[in-house]
Amino acid sequence: MAVIVQKFGGTSVANAEKIRGAASRAVEAKRKGYDVVVVVSARGHKTDELVDLAKEITRQPRPREMDMLLATGEQESVALMAMAVHELGEEAISLTGAQIGVLTDTTHTKARIVSISTERMQELLKAGNIVIAAGFQGVDAQMNITTLGRGGSDTTATALAAVLNAELCEIYTDVEGVFTTDPRLVKGARKVDRISYDEMLELASLGAGVMHSRSIEFAKKYGVQLRVRPAYSDGPGTLIAPESDEVTSVVTGVAFVRNEAMITLVGLPDQPGVMNTLFSSLSAEKIPVDMVVQNVAREGTANVTFTVAEDELTAALAVAKAAAAKLQAQDIVATTGLSKVSVVGHGMQTHTGVAARMFQVLAAHEINIRVVTTSEIKISVLIDRSRCDDAVLAAHSGFQLDKA
Ligand code: ADP
Ligand code: ASP
Ligand code: MG
Repeated sequence: MAVIVQKFGGTSVANAEKIRGAASRAVEAKRKGYDVVVVVSARGHKTDELVDLAKEITRQPRPREMDMLLATGEQESVALMAMAVHELGEEAISLTGAQIGVLTDTTHTKARIVSISTERMQELLKAGNIVIAAGFQGVDAQMNITTLGRGGSDTTATALAAVLNAELCEIYTDVEGVFTTDPRLVKGARKVDRISYDEMLELASLGAGVMHSRSIEFAKKYGVQLRVRPAYSDGPGTLIAPESDEVTSVVTGVAFVRNEAMITLVGLPDQPGVMNTLFSSLSAEKIPVDMVVQNVAREGTANVTFTVAEDELTAALAVAKAAAAKLQAQDIVATTGLSKVSVVGHGMQTHTGVAARMFQVLAAHEINIRVVTTSEIKISVLIDRSRCDDAVLAAHSGFQLDKA
């Protein structure tokens, strides 16, 4: 029988009524003849509440205990969802990440899935159950509970869809689908009917919170058909699929990361191995580095600037200071209060002048650019956080994304 995976995000299971609504979608699919796997997130703002609670106890909770804590949110949801399915007259069984057999590496709070065992799920499906799987969590080889990073239930869903060879993976959420930018910020944002894996991957990695970026990596690698749909209506949503031949616009979307921080090492010796020393130590501490720029060296020294998520700044600065001392850098400067705004689109591969247009739009709004990075299908700028919303709005209308 064909398998369908349906994932419900936090808002879509926030209360009993919504849980019943989600359960009835699963039951409907089951009665249509599908083997149904439901992946559920923690209810409403549960995960945020747990994070806040931990911060009331300690400023620096250990990552292992954070995972132990945060995983409880999803456990609550799966049990309630299974009960809701029972009430609708179908068999269902809830499973934690460990019970599904989601094996991850040991990187607490941002673990990566290593393997998933499908045996138990297959047996349960065969016996007629709707399988209700806890999103966002797994276990490492020592059976420590791990989590996949905020928004990680999307990744559980696509990974399960991949290993179960599902016909479709539906991501039910609180908006109509994937938009040209965050519809909560830009009223004129438009829903797109279809988007390529590559564009969605860029948008998600550049801050579009609608999908966890790793989920798109899985979907692309295993050819999972993904559809992002509203949980509250029958809207068709957005299909995330291979690139289609028809390029409709140069830029597909605008994404932003509001809380970025920048570290600059001043006066590093201009010699081989310097970047390696700095970035290997950041990588050893598993600190994700975002933008990197090195200026042209003058008089034997160069400056290196890189950015990290603002909540990684303390950890990144400690590592960078140690590296700076080792490399005899002249100074080290940290800057907070920054944001990154990016435009993404396949059309950039064939059209010129996209960067010029971006800079023109920002200049027209007197928004100062601190760092620029590009790839084949995106341009990102680092700006002051106080201008983040203005820049998103300006880029969105500057590339005419508000027009059909
Ligand atoms: P869920 O709990 O269902 O996983 P999320 O809050 O993680 O939901 O993701 C949905 C939210 O993503 C929307 O409410 C919207 O504000 C935000 N978002 C950001 N960028 C986009 C975008 N380009 N398209 C749609 N939604 C976006
Ligand atoms: N509950 C987790 C979070 O809030 C995972 C998810 O919702 O995807 O980040
Ligand atoms: Mg999400």
